[in-house]
Amino acid sequence: MKRASHFLLCACVCLALVSVSSAQRLPTIARPDNYKLTFAPDFSTDGFGGVETIQVRVQKPTSEIVLNALDLDFHEATITARGASQKATATFEKEKEQVTLAVGKTLPPGPATIDIKYTGKLSSELRGLYLGKQDDGHKYAATQFEATDARRAFPCFDEPAYKATFNVTVIADNGMTVISNTRAISDVDGPVGKHTVRFAATPKISSYLVAFVVGNFEYIEGSADGIPIRVYTTAGKKELGRFALETAEKVLPYYDHYFGIKYPYSKLDLVGLSDFGPGAMENAGCITFREVFLMLDDKHGGIERKKFVGSVVAHEIAHQWFGDLVTMQWWDDVWLNEGFADWMSSKPLEAWHPEWEVELSDVTDSTRALNLDALQNTHPIHQEAETAAQILQLADAITYGKTAAVLRMLESYLGEETFRAGVNEYLKEHAYGSAAAADFWNALTKVSKKPVDKIMATFVEQAGAPLVSVKMKCRGSSATVSLEQRRYYYDRARFESDNNQLWEIPVCFKQGLGKGAGAEKCVLLTQEQQSFTLATCSPWINANAGARGFYRSGYDAEGIRSLARDAERALSPTERIMLLSDLWASVRVDRGKIGDYLVVAQGLQSDRQPEVVSQLIAQLDFIGRYLVTDADRESYRLWVRDLLSPVAEEVGWKKKPSESEEKESLRKVLLGALGGVARDPEVQAFARKLVDQALQDPSAVDRELVASAFPIAASNGDAVLFDQVLARLKSSQNPEESAVYQQTLEAFSDPKLLARTLEYAISEARSQDATSIIGGVMRNPAGQKLGWDFVRAQWAAIEKQSGAFGGASPGGLVASTGVFCDSASRDEVKQFFTVHPVASAERALRQSLERIDYCIDLKGRQGPQLASWLQEQGRHGGNDATGN
Ligand SMILES: [Zn+2]
Repeated sequence: MKRASHFLLCACVCLALVSVSSAQRLPTIARPDNYKLTFAPDFSTDGFGGVETIQVRVQKPTSEIVLNALDLDFHEATITARGASQKATATFEKEKEQVTLAVGKTLPPGPATIDIKYTGKLSSELRGLYLGKQDDGHKYAATQFEATDARRAFPCFDEPAYKATFNVTVIADNGMTVISNTRAISDVDGPVGKHTVRFAATPKISSYLVAFVVGNFEYIEGSADGIPIRVYTTAGKKELGRFALETAEKVLPYYDHYFGIKYPYSKLDLVGLSDFGPGAMENAGCITFREVFLMLDDKHGGIERKKFVGSVVAHEIAHQWFGDLVTMQWWDDVWLNEGFADWMSSKPLEAWHPEWEVELSDVTDSTRALNLDALQNTHPIHQEAETAAQILQLADAITYGKTAAVLRMLESYLGEETFRAGVNEYLKEHAYGSAAAADFWNALTKVSKKPVDKIMATFVEQAGAPLVSVKMKCRGSSATVSLEQRRYYYDRARFESDNNQLWEIPVCFKQGLGKGAGAEKCVLLTQEQQSFTLATCSPWINANAGARGFYRSGYDAEGIRSLARDAERALSPTERIMLLSDLWASVRVDRGKIGDYLVVAQGLQSDRQPEVVSQLIAQLDFIGRYLVTDADRESYRLWVRDLLSPVAEEVGWKKKPSESEEKESLRKVLLGALGGVARDPEVQAFARKLVDQALQDPSAVDRELVASAFPIAASNGDAVLFDQVLARLKSSQNPEESAVYQQTLEAFSDPKLLARTLEYAISEARSQDATSIIGGVMRNPAGQKLGWDFVRAQWAAIEKQSGAFGGASPGGLVASTGVFCDSASRDEVKQFFTVHPVASAERALRQSLERIDYCIDLKGRQGPQLASWLQEQGRHGGNDATGN
């Protein structure tokens, strides 16, 4: 998914981050062809009954069939083969999440039927078949099965390669709506007080993609390419789904055309759920969403919200082909599903709204993935994963962002049409079946006749990302470019020592102004060092043209200076984002000086691209938080103020008629930075005024801008403001507004108020929000220690409120401990999670500890340099010397 920063409620779209139990693979005894499933949820007891018939093919003579099943009570089980029915005894192995059905007489190879009657509880953990509650108090039941939770709703072969057709029937209370993967083929009264809805058989799908929802829902509808599309919401909210419906109507025909295969299911429903663990889930034909990932107020919604909802909807619909139609054999290849959907989702949005410049968000995502890949505790894109905890940990910036970036690089290397031809070939070959990732790149290798398999193997099978150092030497009118690759680590010793990893990297250069202005040349770097000849000499060279490559670029001091001089006019916005990220990476390993980075920042001070400015501000925020000493804090804030004020004055705080949407975004970014990082008192006062207006009448203010103003007002806010925001949060029917109010509660500075926020998280917040609120408090400098003390003191309550982390990511909460930058806190974090281990956040913990260590190291080295640079600036009267 796109990680739109202010709506980063969850680190992933599709994987529910749940469960610490261990999955074990089923023995190869039988394969399912068809499931007939009848579910009868009972909201008076919060339980459900199930009746199931599975048609299987027995592979070899056996008296036992093993299925996945968890927390289900079997009342009757029989197996029928060749006309003979036998009662089966069921033996559960809870640890393995399996049940063995044993019969007296051996079953011959060939078709057999398994019949099971069972009951279960509607889960309180947002997984399996679970109980949800709408804002108005109405109960509903919904499913969330990825990765290994279908087995909590019905006994099944719960592995992605066991694809089958499913006939779902649901017995629901009268008046309740039932939605599932396919169209309803009948809806009849009975039994008493209920109605029975039967759905058409699905095409062959994996168990994790089966879904149904039962409750009070309303919908709006449309269609595209002959496919009916509905957006379902809880009562009173259907109009908030209008934008998502419009997006689906644009995206579906685009994919029909791109993939060369028509949308494979008979209808498409997008369902907004108030209680929902992941961001969204791509169940075939029945995509479920957290409300805030689906709904927006079209009349007042700004561009950022539209981009966010648009990209989530486009991501999930892309999965209908990539993931649902063709499914990975096993979870170790989930990266291809997720990275592909991420990469693909930009294409229809680009075609629909070119002015959104979605490629800028893509590059920002690449920089995040590069940052994660700088840790020793990163992982290869292709990562073995056997247990549920291991599978769920894969939902990170490597699986999503890095894969998407590698695919973008590959597409650029092969050309759009060749790439697409390979994708089409792969999909056609494996439609309604399963495939391994190698099948994908083999299809591309075959179609393109280029070494895709070699390139992909280096990026997919090995961890980390290369730094490509570039040096240019002019010889008369031509030039020689020398490239050198090595793995980039934040750990300086590791980075500088011999490392023997090699990648096959499609590298594209862009030469500087002058004769070779804007000229690009692409090469394949396969050795540790290689030289190439360029026809023209130029004042500078950029080693990642279009920022299309997934690698870092390293320049010498002179290279940086000449690049920085022209950056704003000669580099594209994507290249500027990548350059800022690359330069910061060189500061982190002592190859660059922090003062030089800040000089480049000054060179970009009149940049108008919101995404470029955001990239810069994120770094300035980090510097302000961790590297500036108390003595220099005020002069640093003044410097940031001087840096950003001229553009802010030009943009103004008031929206002008007919201004571009880009300007709206820029205004929002600048308000956040001047009120937050620079703590400009005038801007803070303005933010408070805006918030007061919004609290009076939300429709009177610029919705996008006020979302930025709320946290600023909170940082100076008192109990009166806190009470107002909390009351709004509790009464709001608009998920977008609720998200802003919730994030505002995390941003107060007064410890007493933050303590109330934390209390709210474990007593009243929705299960999926509890850990994100606590993590939000920890990311607030004023709440860092308070939040951490709370985590330690209230661990049991946090686990309980989060439904044993069924709906929320413990990984996210554990990752929030990476905000510390001192050894005492690091030791506390390590010690606490040694005593309270979280299996599905085991890698997140190692990453957090690493981050803290590097921060400590960075502060020790660059802190003093920063102090003298700031003092130097002060002596020269601020940042007048911008003519670098
Ligand atoms: Zn996804």
